[in-house]
Amino acid sequence: MAAEANVIEGLKAVLRNIAAAETEADRPNGSVGLIAVTKTFDAEAIQPVIDAGQRAFGENRVQEALAKWPKLKADFSDIELHLIGPLQSNKTKEAVALFDVIQSIDREKIAKEIAREIRKQGKSPRLYVQVNTGLEPQKAGIDPRDAVAFVERCRTEHGLVIEGLMCIPPFDENPGPHFALLEKLAREASVDQLSMGMSGDYETAIAFGATEVRVGSAIFGHRPKPAQA
Ligand SMILES: *Cc1c(COP(=O)(O)O)cnc(C)c1O
Repeated sequence: MAAEANVIEGLKAVLRNIAAAETEADRPNGSVGLIAVTKTFDAEAIQPVIDAGQRAFGENRVQEALAKWPKLKADFSDIELHLIGPLQSNKTKEAVALFDVIQSIDREKIAKEIAREIRKQGKSPRLYVQVNTGLEPQKAGIDPRDAVAFVERCRTEHGLVIEGLMCIPPFDENPGPHFALLEKLAREASVDQLSMGMSGDYETAIAFGATEVRVGSAIFGHRPKPAQA
């Protein structure tokens, strides 16, 4: 199938570009993880990418992820599923049950509910805090001026282990300063994982220290409709 071949070509090209960007930035090969973002694509479109060896995937909506990932995860036990979109509190239970990593902790209430579900389910997804580096009113994420204190509150008040920070720079701005800000906040908050960089700017993000890039359309092609950020 032509579409399938294109997806594999896309995956290989992204992996090559990641390796080249690592070398360019004097970073060890393999230091940057690829999260293949599968929102709007169904299991049939995803399967060839799994068959090609990709294991980390990202979805931005819990409901959509529930429709395709439980079966794929049952078939491939080493798949690592990341939630990269805003979490509504009425979906926290399902999110903690399904996802291996939740990258989008963006407010006190969600931190509290995740902590409660972790205690209840005895399951601990890895957790990142999302930072709204561009202070965009329509975008989720913690105000960068409060990010370090928020990570600290997640730890001390909710007992959460926060491992990383995530950001989505404003669509129409040079992303470099946003990546630099996230990297600085991660150092101040003592977290190791930096999830930044998408199809248009993942090589730039790697130059600024990304440990994970989230790439969708460069692998799967254009999405039928714009997905919600
Ligand atoms: C959709 C999405 C991506 C991937 O975007 P592409 O431009 O298709 O690579 C990355 N991160 C988040 C949070 C997303 O919602």
